[in-house]
Amino acid sequence: MSIQTPAIILTIKDIGEADRLVTFLTPDRGRVTGLAKHAKKSRKRFPNVLEPLNRVEFYLSARTGGDLEFLQKGELIRAYSSLRRDLPRLGAAALLAELAGELASPPEAAAPIFAALENALARLENGLPVDSLLISAALHLLKSGGYGFHLGACLACGKEPAPPLHFSIPRGGVLCGACRGGAPGPLLALNPGAWKILRQAQEMPPDRLARLILPAWQRDQILALIRAFLRYHLGRDLKSWSFLKKVSGDK
Ligand SMILES: [Zn+2]
Repeated sequence: MSIQTPAIILTIKDIGEADRLVTFLTPDRGRVTGLAKHAKKSRKRFPNVLEPLNRVEFYLSARTGGDLEFLQKGELIRAYSSLRRDLPRLGAAALLAELAGELASPPEAAAPIFAALENALARLENGLPVDSLLISAALHLLKSGGYGFHLGACLACGKEPAPPLHFSIPRGGVLCGACRGGAPGPLLALNPGAWKILRQAQEMPPDRLARLILPAWQRDQILALIRAFLRYHLGRDLKSWSFLKKVSGDK
């Protein structure tokens, strides 16, 4: 008896001589950890399957060991081999995968998060501009996890926000300069151009994202804002930021 589930592999750790511990995202159970016994020797049960970011089908043992699942076998569905050859794309994919895993645990909203990550990986594979795709996919994942940004109107007065703009990290939304007093902090200064990019990245249909070109300083300001927001709400930094920083060059 086994249970079949679609999965996107997040991390893999070797355990002892033969076994591998696999963390993966599923649409129904959120983020799951499974033990692949003898996976290092048995290529038949996991042919080309056990690589981070792979989209696979896993067969789980019906008997569970509490929080740990037992992986009986796996099939590769998609390996995203183009994005793996391009370091900035790989950095973006790693960050989005880690974020999706965090948001899907607990698993209430896992199905839309799984779909959003799978779509983002497919787009990164197909070569859209990596910066605009990373930002829009991160915002989309956050929204699917219940952390959508409030960007259209000032959080305090409800009107079109007037510069100098600020972003409230606890509330995830924009404020007018005049309204920032008394708003819950920390607050980050938000350049009007970066604000516009954020709005477009959140609202634009993904097939039009190729038109969204942004300079490196704007990308960096927006990523710093998303990073500060995540650190505040998750209580720690995502591990993939340092890899992303290393591989994303200035354009
Ligand atoms: Zn206001």
